[in-house]
Amino acid sequence: MWTYYPALLEQPVPRYTSYPTAAEFGDAIGPDEMCRALGSVGEHDRLSLYVHIPYCTEICWYCGCNTGAANRTERLNHYLEALDQEIALIAQRLGGRGQVNHIAFGGGSPNAIKPLDFVRLVDRLVTSFRAVKPVISLELDPRGFTSDWARVLALTGVGRVSLGVQTFSPDVQAAIGRVQPTELIETCVAALRDQGIDNINFDLMYGLPGQDEAILLDTLAETVRLKATTVSLFGYAHVPHMIPRQRRIDATALPGLQERFDQAARGHEFLLAAGYVAVGFDHYALPESPLAQAQHNGTLRRNFQGFTADPHDALIGIGATAISSFPSLLVQNEKNTGRYRMLVSAGRFPASRGITRSPDDQRRGAVIEQILCFGAADLSPLGDISGYRARLALHEELGLIRWEGNRLLLAPEARPYARTVAVIFDRWREVPTTQFSHAI
Ligand code: SF4
Repeated sequence: MWTYYPALLEQPVPRYTSYPTAAEFGDAIGPDEMCRALGSVGEHDRLSLYVHIPYCTEICWYCGCNTGAANRTERLNHYLEALDQEIALIAQRLGGRGQVNHIAFGGGSPNAIKPLDFVRLVDRLVTSFRAVKPVISLELDPRGFTSDWARVLALTGVGRVSLGVQTFSPDVQAAIGRVQPTELIETCVAALRDQGIDNINFDLMYGLPGQDEAILLDTLAETVRLKATTVSLFGYAHVPHMIPRQRRIDATALPGLQERFDQAARGHEFLLAAGYVAVGFDHYALPESPLAQAQHNGTLRRNFQGFTADPHDALIGIGATAISSFPSLLVQNEKNTGRYRMLVSAGRFPASRGITRSPDDQRRGAVIEQILCFGAADLSPLGDISGYRARLALHEELGLIRWEGNRLLLAPEARPYARTVAVIFDRWREVPTTQFSHAI
């Protein structure tokens, strides 16, 4: 049972898909740093590739992703040509070093492109890099899904699919501009399973306009009925000043902070009762799934795609907006697709911003990752921890954390507060900021 402590949830906190976060990126980092980082990849380093497709057939009102309408074939074709050019640039610089174990496609909606183009893209990736049976995963918009896609995904060896579901409630779907009947999701899941693709994630949200606990629990019941392998349960962040398309959402219909907390708590209880294991601070997984196993084995990681079982040494982002992560560098590609295409067609890495990671950043980043993945972290690498202990006094008093020497342990009930613990180790957030969302 979770207890609501509003004082702890007041400060907006990052989701920490990286440390430092993307908010700290600056334009002092660019193509030269990307080129050097690729040059430092070792012969046997484990590499993960992320390919960004910034297009969707329909744009949802709540969406904060860098995506645009996939309504012009020519525009998509030009983008795919640019991806080919960037892949060639990266492959040339790597010169066969590193082994690609994972390839993830996200966006936008990767299924905004044609199935045949997806086949070509996968072929280009696996033939350009040293890839040995990579695990391939993909985000899917059920609205653009066809049986052709299911066959193509099986043929290309896709092993994991994440479906943008969000809610099964027709009224809430209408309120967020994403209408997709339950039958559509059912057909999609059945077609994937028919092709042997069984690792299926549902992206769901709480805190949506007009959503209450009963509506959320109905969605979770459908999710359990359809046997989603993993579930990501995110709180909707309403920030129309940063994401103008959210202005279409009726802010007066949004649940308050306590209602959001209660929804997250009920959702948590429901999924645990249905046999799921809580992973990280917002994921749930069937016990036999790779994600639950990774948490159990201590190999769970957190990266730009969220919690993952992928134990990479470096992640290489390909496409507009994509972020690459190396031990001492985070670097993001140009966001604007037109400028992205111009840069790669001129033979330049399209990196436009980022940040170097000092040894101190790497140590803090490792602590934050351990807290979020496992609810425990060894703080010895941070030296004197008395300052952190003082800043966590309230968490300790409330029984949310405890100490074993230099080891910080979060109680199971601290799950909704995990990000408020992690932020204590963030040197950029010693002064509170309003740039992020609430932990709930
Ligand atoms: S399908 Fe996904 S990426 Fe595309 S607009 Fe909707 S939420 Fe955003």
